[in-house]
Amino acid sequence: MTDAVPTPPKTHTELLPAALIEMALERGEGILSDTGALRIETGPRTGRSPADRFVVKEPSSEEAIDWGGVNRPFDADRFDALWERVKSHASQSETWVQYMHVGEHSDHYLPVKVITATAWQSLFGRNMFIRPETYNPSHKPEWKILNVADFVCDPERDGTHSDGTVIIHFGQRKVLIAGMRYAGEMKKAMFSVQNFLLPEKDVMPMHCSANIGEAGDTTLFFGLSGTGKTTLSADPNRYLIGDDEHGWSKGSVFNIEGGCYAKTIDLSQKNEPVIWDAIRTGAIIENVVLDEQGHADYCDTKLTENGRCCYPP
Ligand code: MN
Repeated sequence: MTDAVPTPPKTHTELLPAALIEMALERGEGILSDTGALRIETGPRTGRSPADRFVVKEPSSEEAIDWGGVNRPFDADRFDALWERVKSHASQSETWVQYMHVGEHSDHYLPVKVITATAWQSLFGRNMFIRPETYNPSHKPEWKILNVADFVCDPERDGTHSDGTVIIHFGQRKVLIAGMRYAGEMKKAMFSVQNFLLPEKDVMPMHCSANIGEAGDTTLFFGLSGTGKTTLSADPNRYLIGDDEHGWSKGSVFNIEGGCYAKTIDLSQKNEPVIWDAIRTGAIIENVVLDEQGHADYCDTKLTENGRCCYPP
């Protein structure tokens, strides 16, 4: 008999929602609301941080990107160094992996390996991206999201803008998210990726919600965040296609995502019954205020006006 080796840090692959919720609770990542939703606080960042978002400047995409205030360049060597640093940080504790699709379309999906350092963000990935019957049937090159919330970036050392960052590398098909607890960064980063790749395939990416009637009539709802895309598309009399990101290809409008990510400010059962009913076991509520009984107060904006719920399709 040899001496027992220390237990290596664990990677949890493709856990189901019940297991993810149990682990998130055990680890103190969140608490349950009275309707069974997993409630999380994301700290100082309760929305996206556009100033912390970069695109790696590298030969495969350099010419096609409109560099500037929105698409800020990140040095390729510094990206490689930071990716390794974040990966090694993550490997010292537990990680969760989900294999998902981005794009509900047999030709236009992207396969993505979603690696997170919290159980709840793994559940978020599972809710928001698409769970295919067969993962990557066309054997396309895989994208990777590495999302390590407790990593603290050092702008001086890492070349980031602050302690957190989101960096897209088209050549290596990687999205690095470090020091960010707000989970919306994950879904928006993959939308940015599809937003860049789909037009080359003659597909129009759209930031809109979409639903379809019995007769096959599709309606698209465009508008900035908070103007009612999710609310208007959640119509009990029509089938929902999706609430936020779509592609319009020849003959079809398809969802880029799986689940929904709705704002919860002033949410009421009367005005938004579909969203209200979705806030139960399997859903996540971000930065929503709960009372002692675990009852959500959607009018209380002391944490943020951008309270969110994320629920599976
Ligand atoms: Mn949106």
